[in-house]
Parts: sequence; structure tokens; C-alpha cells
Amino acid sequence: MDLLDKRNVPVESLGGLVYAGQKEHNPDIELDECIDAVYHVLNKREIQNILLLGINLDMWADRGIEDQYLAEILNEDSGLFQCDETLSHGCVEIFGGIGISNLGYLDHVKPGIIGKVDARKNSCNVFLDDILAGIVASAEAYVANKHPMGVYREFEEEK
Ligand code: MG
Repeated sequence: MDLLDKRNVPVESLGGLVYAGQKEHNPDIELDECIDAVYHVLNKREIQNILLLGINLDMWADRGIEDQYLAEILNEDSGLFQCDETLSHGCVEIFGGIGISNLGYLDHVKPGIIGKVDARKNSCNVFLDDILAGIVASAEAYVANKHPMGVYREFEEEK
């Protein structure tokens, strides 16, 4: 939480993205539930380790990397680097298929705080934007799986 705070990422902004992504599937959903879902995801050790590694890699780049080739890749935020995407995939793999498909969407569209972090020019955020997308996608999967839909909802209501 301290690291997210240090990199100016409010948890509420992640919850807002979860809400925006899930309200069309679950019209009854509330923002507070989406923010709670983000905290649920952040409580997972796997997610904490990915955040710890990713943010520290960004801060390492801010301090200056000796290897000029890697420094250039990170400075350009090269789309072919892919190590940032690899870390974000690690976030969603514990939350199943909905998380994986949502991550692809969020990585492409970069809504809200994800796009703002990606656009920051005064610090390296190569890893953070992807990890945020991974956290939002995971929280969306968590929310989606908690709410029965369509035929599942009818089945639940019959019980
Ligand atoms: Mg990135």
C-alpha cells in the first residue's frame, strides 16, 4: 500500500475501473463492492510480490541503470520488451479466464489511472501500468464470479 501511495495510485481509482467494467454485466453492483474487490486482490501474496518487484524495477530505472541497452528499452517503454506484460499475466492467472480476457482489453485501452500512469514522463512506469491492469482485471474476475448471470442467475433464484 505504501508503494502504491508513493507512486500516486489511489486504490479507489482502481475500484472505479472495476465498477466501469462490471456494471454492464451486473447493473446492481456498487462502487464500494468494487473497491473491496481490489483490496481482496491486493491481499494475495502473489499480487503483493508482483507489485513489490514491478514498482522496485521502475524505481531502479529512475535511479539509472548501468546497462545502456536495457536503459534504452525502459526509457522508450518498448512494446516489444514484454517483461511488463509477463508480470501482469502473473496477476490474473490465479483469477481465471475472465481476468485473462479483461487484462487484454485493459492493456489495449488503458482506461483511467492505467493510462495516466502510462503517460507519466517524469518517472519510469514501464511495469506499473501493466500491473495495475492486472489488478483491475483480477478484481473484475472476482466480482463477476461472485454474481451469478443469465442462466446461472435463474438457477440461483429457483433454489
Ligand atoms: Mg508497461
